[in-house]
Amino acid sequence: MSIDTLAGLVRTIPDFPKPGIQFRDVTTLLADGAGLAELVERMGTIARPLDPDLIVGIEARGFILGAALALTLGKGFVPVRKAGKLPGKTVGIDYVLEYGTDRLELHEGQVPSGARILLVDDLIATGGTALAAAQLLREQGASVLMALFAIDLPDLGGMAALEADGVAAQAIIA
Ligand code: 5GP
Repeated sequence: MSIDTLAGLVRTIPDFPKPGIQFRDVTTLLADGAGLAELVERMGTIARPLDPDLIVGIEARGFILGAALALTLGKGFVPVRKAGKLPGKTVGIDYVLEYGTDRLELHEGQVPSGARILLVDDLIATGGTALAAAQLLREQGASVLMALFAIDLPDLGGMAALEADGVAAQAIIA
């Protein structure tokens, strides 16, 4: 499947979640068997040579792609969640959004010190979420080999922000 066909499976929903935002909806791509296989294969081709110890996915659509990638690579999967969702003892990080702050959490001890991590999410916009997740992983003594996304919104500069922070980043659809 060509990259243009793959990209065409993502639909844009205007004014979601608020007026003026053009939301890139990946559920249409996920619902297409050939498209999902193509996306995961392309992500796997990038991730496999890195041979990460663990795949870490960011809530919520990063869970879908991260788990698929973990199975493809034969690695374990660890979720990074929004505050208050994980049942066990957590470590977390607060980060600044356009309006207010948010918090990401990880089960304590689930990412061992020294672990080599592949970080996965569906989309990178400003990069704020992925930067916070990478920082949280580093605070556990882990290293982030790469942050890998299905979609990049290049106008928002997220990939450049990650690279500036020393996190290698790639996306399949730009
Ligand atoms: P950032 O922190 O890079 O500005 O935003 C990225 C985060 O918000 C990701 O977790 C991503 O899932 C979500 N996000 C922001 N905008 C969109 C969008 O247009 N489509 C989708 N699917 N997710 C988005």
